[in-house]
Amino acid sequence: MSILKRLFSIEKREYHKIITILGVKIKIRNDNLVKNLELDEYYKKITRIIPRPSLDHVLFHLVDHCNLNCKNCDVCSPIAEERFVSLESFEKDIKRLAELTKGNVSLIILTGGEALLNPDIIEMFSIARINFPNTILRLHSNGILLMNRDENFWQAIENNKITIVCTKYPINVDYEYIKQQAEKYNVDFLFYNDEKVLKTSYHIPFDINGSQEPRENFINCFHANDCIGIHDGKLYTCTPAANAHHFKKFFNVDMKLDENDYIDIHQASSIQEILDFLAKPIPFCRYCNVKGRSYNHQWGISKKQIEEWS
Ligand code: SF4
Ligand code: SF4
Repeated sequence: MSILKRLFSIEKREYHKIITILGVKIKIRNDNLVKNLELDEYYKKITRIIPRPSLDHVLFHLVDHCNLNCKNCDVCSPIAEERFVSLESFEKDIKRLAELTKGNVSLIILTGGEALLNPDIIEMFSIARINFPNTILRLHSNGILLMNRDENFWQAIENNKITIVCTKYPINVDYEYIKQQAEKYNVDFLFYNDEKVLKTSYHIPFDINGSQEPRENFINCFHANDCIGIHDGKLYTCTPAANAHHFKKFFNVDMKLDENDYIDIHQASSIQEILDFLAKPIPFCRYCNVKGRSYNHQWGISKKQIEEWS
């Protein structure tokens, strides 16, 4: 370190600057940034309970299980039984969604579990595109099954203008090769996380006793009115409620989960009824320990122990 740097330096941290003068460190809070972040957080809370002007994005969960059993998986795939959405069910839901929204959905995400495990996925690409000609269509994948896809698959992705979004895991997958394949077939390709940062995991625990306050949980939950997903006609405001039945069954716990926790898109009379439903806490919110959530854990394989989800 140069003498000058020891006498005087300015170091920028996320919320502070640290100024060193003659070896004495002075910490200065960046109040504007803190204020902006607080406003941002406030804004996020408000938008969860205000119905969206339109259903701008929606996830279609095409399978519940996965070929990579990540610890703490927030869709419970390591403890899920195999479930493939059938082509008939997918088409019925896509058509109903197009009817309700008049095709006005900005983004549809085909996901899982690992969506590529669904044997009908190629047909699903074209069904989604026919019904939503102007929507951004994305396929989310962990990449494992993208390593050995044939020309037919890549052509279907290209023809239906699907964007591939890969989460980069610290596993033996050649993500560079996948990127090259995407380029070869003129397919848009993105990493879900930062390409240079390997996946970490987060812990999203349930409160088995259901002793939480639903409204407070909903307002403070990043899934609420945001991770909106369709499972065989049932539309959920979040992924944990949609997948909690796997947790319930695998560990044989008594948590109430019923028709009040989702809205059936085939029963709903209008898109407004759906948007209103999505912006309200559901009874299942009492089973989420939102304050107990933690992030940036080292990624690992699930041991299927109850602590991963509680
Ligand atoms: S790849 Fe995704 S869906 Fe599969 S186990 Fe991991 S976190 Fe869950
Ligand atoms: S059920 Fe849980 S994850 Fe879903 S919105 Fe309520 S608090 Fe959030």
